Amino acid sequence: MTIELVNVTKVFPGFTLGPINLNLPDDTILVLLGPNGSGKSTILNLIIGLIKPDTGSIYIDGADIAKIPVESRKIGYSFQNPTLFPHLSVYENIVFGLKKGDKKLKGLQIKNLCDSFGISHLLDRRKINGLSGGEMQKISLARMLVKEPKIMLMDEPLAHLDNLTKNKLRMDLRQILKEEKVLGIYVTHFEDDVYALADSVSIIQKGQIKRTDTLRTMLLSEGESATIGVRATSSPSYSHESPTSLSSSSIFEIFQGDYNYLEGHVTESKDGVTIFMHGAHKFEILGDYPTNSTVGVLIKPEDILLSPDLVKTSARNIIKVRVRSISNISYLRKGVLDIFLGIDDISLKSRITVESKNYLGIIEGKYIYAIFKATVPHVVRNSERENMIK
Ligand code: ADP
Ligand code: MG
Repeated sequence: MTIELVNVTKVFPGFTLGPINLNLPDDTILVLLGPNGSGKSTILNLIIGLIKPDTGSIYIDGADIAKIPVESRKIGYSFQNPTLFPHLSVYENIVFGLKKGDKKLKGLQIKNLCDSFGISHLLDRRKINGLSGGEMQKISLARMLVKEPKIMLMDEPLAHLDNLTKNKLRMDLRQILKEEKVLGIYVTHFEDDVYALADSVSIIQKGQIKRTDTLRTMLLSEGESATIGVRATSSPSYSHESPTSLSSSSIFEIFQGDYNYLEGHVTESKDGVTIFMHGAHKFEILGDYPTNSTVGVLIKPEDILLSPDLVKTSARNIIKVRVRSISNISYLRKGVLDIFLGIDDISLKSRITVESKNYLGIIEGKYIYAIFKATVPHVVRNSERENMIK
């Protein structure tokens, strides 16, 4: 399934959305990221047909949705606050809306779906009273997926869950959407959702889409944009000017958090320690992940230590990298530098003080060791059956 929005606009008193142009290829997961009130829910409401655009057109698989009846659009819509039927059991809630024959036919599928979400043990619960927010969300998502939608529109479905539940659920959700070949649009104002779910990201502000790109392109261009900024200044080694090319459509700038993203192939996992390879480079992280699966991790720049020499240390990750550039970014405190490092197609950023940089003699072009402990990477993706970022 594909979705295309062409010059779509919608005007509310005091708010103008668009013109929005979006083109989602088959089975993509798009994360639509933006602050409250930026128009995210409105875009979903336009696609599902709850509201009509003032101008422009929306196409599903090339067909104008204005001509497709709402009920035959095969779109699942999950709202921020799930609404379950209080007088029905968990199972009845999940199969609600399915035809009688379908319930039987889909027995196995329902079981698998509930297993994936970890809610099989709840199926016999007579009432939904007393279920946790996370369980309700999972039931609500399962109810939608069992109808085999070709498109899932998800409006901050995990917003009210605790971080641990959220983390697990995001990975499950991505895996299920990929397995079922469902095109998904996932609306959020949380940065972590982006890393865990997105193939592509659209950044929306004040009714305008500022940028749409694949997650990979966005993550890679974070490093590049800062590098370009440094090169444009006169200082040969590092600059106290803030790079001018960091645009407001940078994920990291919007959230003021920033991370390194690394992805690789699990070669070994035992006793709570996992080894993954990225090209010829080996990394060690905590946790058990299936051999041959792919993991994606985030690493804070503050957690990457630098050393000019290969030192003996308890840290399990040591990688020889070249100093690509050194930069002082405006939102950092005075005296703190970002050191951009790279080897092959790996880009890393380390954050150190000016004093440390001088002490270690770090200059552009030099090879040094980047070091971090196995406890540092935060796993945001794990999948056995797919390449995670296209
Ligand atoms: P988001 O989901 O990004 O938080 P929304 O799409 O819900 O943002 O809303 C964007 C803006 O449009 C807000 O200012 C909101 O008040 C306004 N808005 C949304 N729906 C309506 C409506 N039906 N009538 C009038 N204004 C609306
Ligand atoms: Mg909203």
